[in-house]
Amino acid sequence: MEPQGIPEPLDKETIIRGLGESIFSRNIILYQRINSTNVLAKELALNGAPEGTLVLAEEQTAGKGRLNRKWLSPDRENLLFTILLRPPWDADNIFLLTMILAISAIDAVKEMTGIDIMIKWPNDLYIRRNKLGGLLTEFSIKDRVVEHVILGIGLNVNWMPGEEERLHYPATSILAESGMRVSRNELLSRLLKRFEASYERALAGDTDDLHIRWNELSLVTGKDVEIISQDDVIRGKAIAIDRSGALILNNSLGEEIKILSGDVSLRFQV
Ligand code: ADP
Repeated sequence: MEPQGIPEPLDKETIIRGLGESIFSRNIILYQRINSTNVLAKELALNGAPEGTLVLAEEQTAGKGRLNRKWLSPDRENLLFTILLRPPWDADNIFLLTMILAISAIDAVKEMTGIDIMIKWPNDLYIRRNKLGGLLTEFSIKDRVVEHVILGIGLNVNWMPGEEERLHYPATSILAESGMRVSRNELLSRLLKRFEASYERALAGDTDDLHIRWNELSLVTGKDVEIISQDDVIRGKAIAIDRSGALILNNSLGEEIKILSGDVSLRFQV
């Protein structure tokens, strides 16, 4: 916990101390203000930056979600960061990294505050109907093999979303949910340590537990959902998320439909 009213800046040394020996302590790039941590991480990746590169920002001027949507986050309140990975995998496994990042964030927040977070397929963190965070995974592949993966996350930590913001989108934060101001440096270190441990297991081929956890944490499983794409709406009951990260639906005819996470939005009834 952090004393009320004293915002703690993000600090590389504190993060490195918290991480201990880690792939994420080798190349940390911290900006007070940047367009988007994903955009910079992608540039660094193309210029040969090593696996584990961590790009952090106190504020983003062009934070982005999927489908050209904006990610908005006030200066110095939240966590905004991107990690660069180079797993020797084929493209089918990339969704594992989104799963690992979501689960690591959920477990680190639970450990520090006791609050329960769920995953709204494919890439959002929710508490009940309110969005606590979003992930954005981008990648480059060559001959079906991964060159790099850029994993970004915006997590609302010590920000109190006002009435105005909540009119536009149902945002919440760790502070709003738990009444606790948490140290972002500590939360980040804990999250990345968890990430690294799961990533090592996934590299060794051990992914069964990940799929089980991901399905347990899924907010939409068992619910009636609408999948909205550019020219279509598909309705059905969400059954599960499969190994590739696709959502399995049962439609009104009882047919099983597989929805890839690509460019679709999901709406659901609580
Ligand atoms: P979707 O949930 O539709 O997949 P994205 O993952 O692309 O959306 O995230 C962008 C959307 O998230 C924005 O359109 C906005 O509604 C919402 N949003 C933007 N900033 C925040 C924030 N800090 N907290 C919660 N929601 C946000």
